[in-house]
Amino acid sequence: MHKWPIKISSLFNAPLGGKSSLKLSQDIDIFEEDFGVKGLAQIKGDLDMFKMEESVAAIFRIAPIKLDVSCCKCLNEFPVEIEFPEFERVFLLSKPKSYEKNDDSIMADLKNCEIDVAQPIYQEILLHLSPNPVCLTGCKGLCSKCGQNLNDSTCKCSKIVNPENPFSTLKNLF
Ligand SMILES: [Zn+2]
Ligand SMILES: [Zn+2]
Repeated sequence: MHKWPIKISSLFNAPLGGKSSLKLSQDIDIFEEDFGVKGLAQIKGDLDMFKMEESVAAIFRIAPIKLDVSCCKCLNEFPVEIEFPEFERVFLLSKPKSYEKNDDSIMADLKNCEIDVAQPIYQEILLHLSPNPVCLTGCKGLCSKCGQNLNDSTCKCSKIVNPENPFSTLKNLF
């Protein structure tokens, strides 16, 4: 994943609650096989950052994005729109004294005075994608033998497994 560094130098010497805002606009490369996604997500939005004790709180407001995902049954691509609620991540300015397992705060890059927002945004996109996406309810998928998309037309293979086929009763005799 490419980095998306945001400078936080102006917040370092700011008083508690000091604020810095900026517009977000960048494409993020999304590649997640489980979610059938491979493509660019155009991220646009606003980022507000607040100086806290030992950390910077970042509040993201991101506009809805469109992504093409491929159906897990028929592999056809279809567009999905993802809407984000406002979300927040905390970037630590010093190593935490105690480590909590469920704490999803991230270390700020103190050497370069920046935070990397690529990962939290990527995580948020994944949170709003459904695993095993299906293009439509009742998608018939592909024939496992010939690969025909059964939403478009039937294939000859399906006739062989048809229980009304006289051969299937014949098979029961042996
Ligand atoms: Zn499908
Ligand atoms: Zn077939």
